[in-house]
Amino acid sequence: DFGEGIMRFREMIRDIPDFPKKGILFRDITPLLANGLLYQQSIQTLAEFCNQCQAQMVVGPEARGYVIGAPLAVVTGCGFAPVRKKGKLPYKTRSASYALEYGEDTLEIHEDAIMQGQRVLVADDLLATGGTMSATIDLVQQLGGIVVGAAFLIELKELGGRQVLLDKIPQLPIQTLVQYD
Ligand code: AMP
Repeated sequence: DFGEGIMRFREMIRDIPDFPKKGILFRDITPLLANGLLYQQSIQTLAEFCNQCQAQMVVGPEARGYVIGAPLAVVTGCGFAPVRKKGKLPYKTRSASYALEYGEDTLEIHEDAIMQGQRVLVADDLLATGGTMSATIDLVQQLGGIVVGAAFLIELKELGGRQVLLDKIPQLPIQTLVQYD
């Protein structure tokens, strides 16, 4: 039972106003990561969700998606596949673009990262507008993977990312450990 632990997750997330630019309240997870027990508890909690989803692979976007997704894969026995910004992956890739406040960004995955019909959990540190995770889901779907769940440490509820993901995949199970209104 991580009831008490979940309270402490929130205490270990540091707020940085106006980073990386004015008006953004950055939710910094490095204090949580520095606490080995809390980091472990957060991964274990998300791992239970991952197991419930019966995932076979975990896919996470760089860079903080690796900090969550890779340990989740190890703990559950899933494989892990990285999603990176355009031009970073060495082998043949598929790509998906998503809108930023100004312009757009492109994410890529190796074309053999997921096999047709594989059950995939997507993971990141934080769900905001859902743009990053939508593009990540696109990549998995382009390869014929089945997205069976989405896991995050943090959800910024007012930005509506949860609904964006549910519009893509109705009834997608979504787990977040700390929510901000
Ligand atoms: P979005 O695509 O809008 O859902 O944004 C999610 C991605 O951007 C995640 O990879 C987060 O790491 C990062 N992100 C967005 N907003 C914040 C925030 N307020 N604090 C920390 N990271 C953020």
